Amino acid sequence: MTGKGRTMEVIMMPFHHQGHLTPMLQFAKRFAWKGAGSIRITLATTLSTAQNMTNSKNNNNNNDYDFLTVESIYDDTDDSQLKFMGRMGKFKSEASLQLGRLITTKSIDNNKCMLVYDAYLPWALDVGKDHNIQAAAFFVQACAYMASFYPMFLEEFGSDDQHPVVAAAKAESVPSLSVELPSREEMERYAPKCAQSPSSDDKPNTVKKSLHPVYRMVVSSITTLHLADFVLINSFDHLEHQVVKWMTNLWRVRTVGPLLPSSYLDKRIKSDVDYGINPYKPNNEACMNWLNTKQAASVVYVSFGSVANLSVEQIAEIAKALKKIPSSFLWIVREAEQEKLPEDFITETSEKGLVMSWCTQLDVLAHEAVGCFITHCGWNSIIEATNFGVPMLGMPQFMDQFLDAHFMEKVWGVGIRAKADEKNFVTCDEIKCGVNEIMYGDKANMIKENAAKWKDLAKEAVGEGGSSDKNIDEIINWLASS
Ligand code: UDP
Repeated sequence: MTGKGRTMEVIMMPFHHQGHLTPMLQFAKRFAWKGAGSIRITLATTLSTAQNMTNSKNNNNNNDYDFLTVESIYDDTDDSQLKFMGRMGKFKSEASLQLGRLITTKSIDNNKCMLVYDAYLPWALDVGKDHNIQAAAFFVQACAYMASFYPMFLEEFGSDDQHPVVAAAKAESVPSLSVELPSREEMERYAPKCAQSPSSDDKPNTVKKSLHPVYRMVVSSITTLHLADFVLINSFDHLEHQVVKWMTNLWRVRTVGPLLPSSYLDKRIKSDVDYGINPYKPNNEACMNWLNTKQAASVVYVSFGSVANLSVEQIAEIAKALKKIPSSFLWIVREAEQEKLPEDFITETSEKGLVMSWCTQLDVLAHEAVGCFITHCGWNSIIEATNFGVPMLGMPQFMDQFLDAHFMEKVWGVGIRAKADEKNFVTCDEIKCGVNEIMYGDKANMIKENAAKWKDLAKEAVGEGGSSDKNIDEIINWLASS
C-alpha cells in the first residue's frame, strides 16, 4: 500500500450506465484501499443512481460503500422524456455546474483533489481544469477500441495543426500500430441503431456532422485527452501490450484492470466480495444450486448482457441450438425479453436447461461446471470470462462488441466468433457447431490452454507488483507528491 500523508480527495464521475458504473466503482474500491486511509472518494452521479446505490446497500446489509460518499449532481427524474443526445446535453449543462461546486467544497482546507471522469463525459475535464485540479480520464472498453477512433479523430481534426496529437501525427512521430483495427466503414456498420441523429441543438460544434452521435461523443472525448493527467483503462498490459505501448505515444495511458471484486482475483481486499450493485435482482441461489448438480466444464452459459435487444428470430435460433447441443445450458433472458422465447421452450428443455432472468455472472463464470460462454462480447463480460478462463462463443451485437469478438478469437485465442450473415443473424447450425467445437472439437484443447494462460495473467496483473497494481501505486504516489 502507498500514499501516506495528507488527505487526498478523489471525485469519481461515472457515466450512469451499469457497464460504466461497475468498473469505476471497482476502481474506487481498489484506489481507496491502496491509499491506506489517505484517500477519500466521492462518487458524483445522477439522483437515480445515487438512490439505487443506497437501496443496494440497505438490501445487502453490507458495508461495501463505507469507503465512499455518494453525491447526486444531477436530477434525472424527468429524463425518460428526452432522446439520447438531448439527455446528454441537459446532463452536461446542469451537472457541470454541480461538479464545479463539489470540487470547490472538496478542495477546501487545501486538500489535494483529483477528478476521475468517464471518458464519455469529456466536459468534466474542462470543469476539473477550470478548478485547477488533477484529472484522469477513465475508459471502460478495451484499449484497442479507443485506438480504433484515432484514424477517425485525424479525419475530423486533421486540419487543426495546433492540436498536439495532430501535430505529432503530421511530424510522423507516432509509429503505425501493428495490430489490425476495424476501418471507419466497419465501425459505422457496428454503430447502435437506436441512437437518432442529433437535433441542431445537440451538435457539439467541434466535430463534423457525418459521424454517428455515439461515435461523435467518443471522438470528442479524444480531442482533449492529451490534457488529462492520466488515461485509465479497464484492461491489463499483457492482454493488449502492443496497443498499450502504441497509445503511450499519444496519451499518458495506464491499465488498471481487470476491475473485478478482489475476492475473485488477488483476495487482498477482504471486504471486496461483489460488485455491490445490480441492474436486476439476481436468482443466484437457484443458479448455483443447479450448477452444483452438473459435472465440471459441462454447461453452456448464455447471456447477452444488460442492454442487447435480440430479435424474436435470433432468440428462436439460439433456442433451437440449445435444444440440439449435447451440453446442459443456463440461459439468462432478461424479464422484458422472455416473451420472445418460443412457446413451451422452458418446459420442453427443463431436463437439460435453466432459464433465469438475471444471475450473479461472476459466480456463474467462476463455477467449475461452466465450460463455454455464449456472449454478446460486452467488455465487462469479456474481461470477466478471461479472468475465470472460460472459453467463449462470440455473438457481438453492436459497437465495441465486434472488436472484442475479433480479439477474443484471433488475438487471445480464447474462443470462436460465430459466423453471422450481413444482417448479423447467426443460424442454429453456426451456434451448435461453435459450441461443439469449443467444448469437444479439434480446437478445444488449444482454446482451453489459452484461456488458462490469460486467467493466470489477469490475476498476476492485479496481484502485488503486477502491472495494474504498479500503475495504481504510481498514480497515488504522483497525486501525493503533486
Ligand atoms: N451480468 C450479471 N448477470 C447477468 C448478466 C450480466 O451480473 O445475468 C453482468 C456481467 O457480470 C457484466 C455486466 O452485467 O458485469 C454486463 O456488462 P457487459 O459490458 O458485458 O455488457 P452490457 O450489459 O454493458 O451490454
